Amino acid sequence: MTDRKPLETLVRRAPWPDSVSRAVGTPLQPSVVYASENPDQLDAQYGGAVAGYTYAREGHPNADVLARKIDMLEGAEGGLVTGSGMAAVTAALMGILGAGDHVLGGDQLYGRSLRLMTQDLARFGIATGLFDPTDPATLEAAIRPETRMVLVEVVSNPTLRVADMEGIARICNDRGVLLAVDNTFTTPRGYRPFDHGADIVIHSVTKLLAGHSDATLGYVAARDPGLRKAIYDFAVTTGMTPSPFDCWLAERGLMSFPLRYDRAEENARVLADHLAGLKGVRRVVYPTRPDHPDHNRAVALLGARGGNMVSFELEGGRAAANALVRAMPEVAFAPTLGDIGTTLSHPNSSSHRNVAPEARARAGISEGFFRVSVGVEEIALLLRDFSAGVAAAS
Ligand SMILES: *Cc1c(COP(=O)(O)O)cnc(C)c1O
Repeated sequence: MTDRKPLETLVRRAPWPDSVSRAVGTPLQPSVVYASENPDQLDAQYGGAVAGYTYAREGHPNADVLARKIDMLEGAEGGLVTGSGMAAVTAALMGILGAGDHVLGGDQLYGRSLRLMTQDLARFGIATGLFDPTDPATLEAAIRPETRMVLVEVVSNPTLRVADMEGIARICNDRGVLLAVDNTFTTPRGYRPFDHGADIVIHSVTKLLAGHSDATLGYVAARDPGLRKAIYDFAVTTGMTPSPFDCWLAERGLMSFPLRYDRAEENARVLADHLAGLKGVRRVVYPTRPDHPDHNRAVALLGARGGNMVSFELEGGRAAANALVRAMPEVAFAPTLGDIGTTLSHPNSSSHRNVAPEARARAGISEGFFRVSVGVEEIALLLRDFSAGVAAAS
């Protein structure tokens, strides 16, 4: 029998067991606080003379491990992982812009990014305008003397239009306007914004990078160290910190990202061609297909990399859409993208339900319009599911 210790010692942290071997997996560190040796050391930590964590909102190892890996993929330095993709978008905009500034956004940006720009920023005296990223002349026309930043996505949601990134970058450069690129859809496997004149890169890590629909996270990196610090300070002050467990999950998911992406992209290419041959499908949208409205630009910008997203339009209305979803229960009908498995979304009942009917019609988003986030399944399974769905709808 060992000596009985007073129960009060339970509150003392137990020492970590000694081991001459070390863990292969990344340790998960949920600690919110870090103990320093003495005030001199803590002072040196805060002053930046020595590296050391202090308080998890300011930074923690699991976020940093993940951030350094995404930095590597994007060719970035000092990127920040945030608690969601929207936190990353918000930190980039609100960490840099101030009252009197003007920001321009692509007219098909992610719904919440559009809302942030058009509704929330306005309350802080930051004006927003929109332009068509496939037509840089519309950007040129929208720029004002007080325009400070442009935010675009390379491939739009859900009509998968491909932005004229070269034209946009040239204009931003000439006019001294910061170019922020939300690279969620294209991923660094398809496009690396910092290699093409971007100042800021943003991700919803929730999607393809983490890849398993079990962690909500974002990432933002800036080329300029001053901007980087402004974004970091705003994110830490407003509490956009990610959970260590989510970062741990995402780092694990990220290990297989290139394999998942390549397989999903190949599946998407085959599925797009298959859908185009089915009776009852009015049109298929996939960037590298010859019938895509931006085909030449997609090939120039992305090479053979069309990505994992495919959109298509059924003949028929809501009833046909309901029938398709019912006939393919093994494909999750869920308003997300980037999961390891294929998911199906219907913009008219989800992401675009509050978009004005005229705007939807202009973009060709009808009741029969679906967006597919293609996963890594055996392709034969997917083709069978979609054939069954389209047959049931028509
Ligand atoms: C999902 C998404 C976001 C928001 O990311 P969350 O992690 O859901 O906050 C931003 N931009 C794009 C392009 C997205 O797809």
